[in-house]
Amino acid sequence: MNFADSEVVGAILGKAGYGLCNEPSEADFVLINTCAIRDNAEQRVRHRVRELRALQTRRPHLRVGILGCMAERLQSRLMTEEDNLSFVCGPDAYRRLPVLLRQVREGMKAAEVELSTTETYADIEPVRMDSNGITAYISIMRGCQNYCSYCVVPYTRGRERSRDPQTIVNEARTLFDNGYREVTLLGQNVNSYAWKEECEGQGVGFPELMQMVAEVDPRLRVRFATSHPKDLSDRLLEVMARHENICRCIHLPVQSGSNRMLQLMNRKYTVEWYLDRVDAIRRYLPDCSITTDVIAGFSGETLEDHQATLDLFRRVRYDYAFMFKYSEREGTYASRHLPDDISEEEKTRRLNEIIALQGQIALENNRLEVGRVYDVLVEGESHRSKVRLFGRNSQNKVLVFDREDAHPGTYRRVRVTDCTAATLLGKLVPNES
Ligand code: SAH
Ligand code: SF4
Repeated sequence: MNFADSEVVGAILGKAGYGLCNEPSEADFVLINTCAIRDNAEQRVRHRVRELRALQTRRPHLRVGILGCMAERLQSRLMTEEDNLSFVCGPDAYRRLPVLLRQVREGMKAAEVELSTTETYADIEPVRMDSNGITAYISIMRGCQNYCSYCVVPYTRGRERSRDPQTIVNEARTLFDNGYREVTLLGQNVNSYAWKEECEGQGVGFPELMQMVAEVDPRLRVRFATSHPKDLSDRLLEVMARHENICRCIHLPVQSGSNRMLQLMNRKYTVEWYLDRVDAIRRYLPDCSITTDVIAGFSGETLEDHQATLDLFRRVRYDYAFMFKYSEREGTYASRHLPDDISEEEKTRRLNEIIALQGQIALENNRLEVGRVYDVLVEGESHRSKVRLFGRNSQNKVLVFDREDAHPGTYRRVRVTDCTAATLLGKLVPNES
């Protein structure tokens, strides 16, 4: 999401006459787009700021500022002695950046952190940065008001609002016309996407939006993130089943396998509901991969609760998981009412147990892939070797294979010949002539 936001910032500043450069040592301004979701994300930003401070001694006119959730969370606190930043700009205020930077150039410090109930940057065509020219993100909504008790996002990104569907479809079409072959639609809870105003005669929900984007061209793959389990509808699964270019991969963050924890987390579903949604995915889309997020060591988590999470992992057999230790965030319901009472050591132990189990499951899942043939969108050279390329299948699994006559940006059929827990190794199936 930050990546997509930086591309919007690039467009706003580009219009105001600013250009990108490759190294901080060539820059007049460095804008750090930040995440506040866990403390270690913020610590990494602080480390980066210290590095830039050292650079400022050699380049005194360099000005450093912070964008995004950390700017929203800490606001002008970031401009005092300790961090001494020149400017902060929250996620809904990026249109004000040109004015803000002008003030900074005139020697002032500047902060813009007002949240909005309407801003979606719908009319801004993002500047694609660091792009492979093949895959791109499209923001379809902003904000979140689910108020999961551990989560800072509702406070840093404001109320949920959806973007005009026509602007989303236009962005997808422009990308396709420019050679892109995959778009990922982004929102904190894409299943609650809702455009109430008339668009071709009716309101547009997420299933309708998916259909509109999928119909841009059958050669354009469509992915999305993130699905909140409470809102994953059969209607969406039906639309996915009807469109082969909607990728067979659903990210369905579970957070915990214990109903007691889910209730304390204010997730608004039970394990039983979650498993019913997993069954529905497997019914409509038998070849769909399922991935998740999980938090170890939330407030009051007992060993029993932790075991329930491990059991759920064994039951669902995720293809991939993002696994985190609970990090208490100032201002959230949990920080005010639920003690952060699992020791750091115990959180680490539980997290490592989940990681080990998931590693084993991913490897077992991948072993079942050996011998299968997939349509792969070729993305580029493998990081390890120039003679090999990599791409992804519809399930979002990475396949690495010898280059032969394949080119990035095209679809090729690849047979899986071997695997690790993270990657499938394969061989190109010759193109029929
Ligand atoms: N909107 C998405 C999640 C976005 S945040 C959803 O609800 O599914 C990405 C992930 O970060 C969350 O799914 C959660 O697993 C993790 N996370 C959020 N707040 C956290 C916290 N305080 N400590 C640890 N992990 C957290
Ligand atoms: Fe945070 Fe919950 Fe919103 Fe996801 S749905 S961003 S976890 S509050």
